[in-house]
Amino acid sequence: MQETEINNQPSCEDELNTGLLSVTEAQARILEGVSRITGTETLPVREALGRILAEDIVSPIDVPSHTNSAMDGYAVRAADLPDKGVREFPVPGTSWAGRPWLAPIEPGQAVQIMTGGMMPEGADTVVMQEQVEREGDTVRIGSGHHSGQNVRAAGEDLATGQQVFTAGKQLTAADIGVLASLGLGEVCVFRRLKVAFFSTGDELRSVGQPLGPGEIYDSNRYSLYGMLKKLDVEIIDMGVVRDRRELVERAFRDAADVADAIITSGGVSVGEADYVKETLEKLGNMSFWKIAMKPGRPVTFGHINGAVFFGLPGNPVSVMVTYFQFVRPALLKMAGETGSLGAYTLRARVTTALRKRPGRYEFQRGVLEQPAPGEFTVRSAGAQGSGILRSMSEANCFILLDPTSTGVEPGEEVEVQPFQNLI
Ligand code: AMP
Ligand code: MG
Repeated sequence: MQETEINNQPSCEDELNTGLLSVTEAQARILEGVSRITGTETLPVREALGRILAEDIVSPIDVPSHTNSAMDGYAVRAADLPDKGVREFPVPGTSWAGRPWLAPIEPGQAVQIMTGGMMPEGADTVVMQEQVEREGDTVRIGSGHHSGQNVRAAGEDLATGQQVFTAGKQLTAADIGVLASLGLGEVCVFRRLKVAFFSTGDELRSVGQPLGPGEIYDSNRYSLYGMLKKLDVEIIDMGVVRDRRELVERAFRDAADVADAIITSGGVSVGEADYVKETLEKLGNMSFWKIAMKPGRPVTFGHINGAVFFGLPGNPVSVMVTYFQFVRPALLKMAGETGSLGAYTLRARVTTALRKRPGRYEFQRGVLEQPAPGEFTVRSAGAQGSGILRSMSEANCFILLDPTSTGVEPGEEVEVQPFQNLI
């Protein structure tokens, strides 16, 4: 569906930009505009770590598969335990983990049992080794025990036929452990998402080349690569595309042939050499939004054939902010994830004054610290210009300042969004 919104009102960043699209609205529209891929593959469970489950998992067995002891001790029938005083029990043998005592327990007996050992038939209670006195082939047990204590029932973790995981879950270390506990050797996951990206701009040089007058090194392809690496996606680096209509068009076509998602940086302003919007409009469908945010105001979103297109601004900090706020959740959804797609936020006390003008939602770069357990403070990571990438290097969170905020004084609380280990 074609949807174009161009805000032609003059707007400067000092004004209240009421005509702009809000951050949450842009996030919602982008999430609505992408759908999950359909391809899947079956992998050995270890290789599926970090991948997104494409099938529901139903337990084929009981876990644990047998009722067993949670302690080293003695398995008895609760009915035989004394109400008061001490009772002596003959001990006919031992149930080891993996080497059960197969005879049923006789009334009045206590079978020695190890942690994980199968409960002998008829026994329902385990008394800890530390609470008894063993003498030769007998054991003396006192009062004060509860029927069923220290026993793990078959299927108490997972019962046969129980739904264990739902498709859309990203598999963690615990999850692959659970799959192994079910005896499953393979699992069906979504295939990896293919993400192509390139930079646009005549001024861009690659590292290793000398810089001519007015030229800069292309850093966006590196930060984008780094952020994509954190997602388990297939990365297709398509290099730098010069600001020429036909080259931009060729790059778009090539990318759409191979990728599920295409990310570009630069060329989305309304400058003479900004061909991203018109090319997208020509080849597919295009939405262009000026978003009431700082940094990263202009963002283009659309589709070319089957591929989803994200046109991010050129400034290095804007690329990282818009990627994190808009692209990452969309890629997670496309990859098949159904859990929470955004990043969590928390409240922290500000230790440096934060300057802000009302009008736009700001993602200031901050350093979140924990001076004491449960206590968070945050300070500015330094100069906040959208071209100052160093502030991203020094930061570990975004400080979220809503459009009405006029700045923050030390001691006040703000909402922060940690991004460490996420991008
Ligand atoms: P644009 O959106 O193309 O007008 O670019 C906005 C600003 O970001 C300009 O100062 C560009 O030089 C800069 N820029 C664009 N692409 C890159 C890049 N790949 N690496 C570093 N800076 C860039
Ligand atoms: Mg440019």
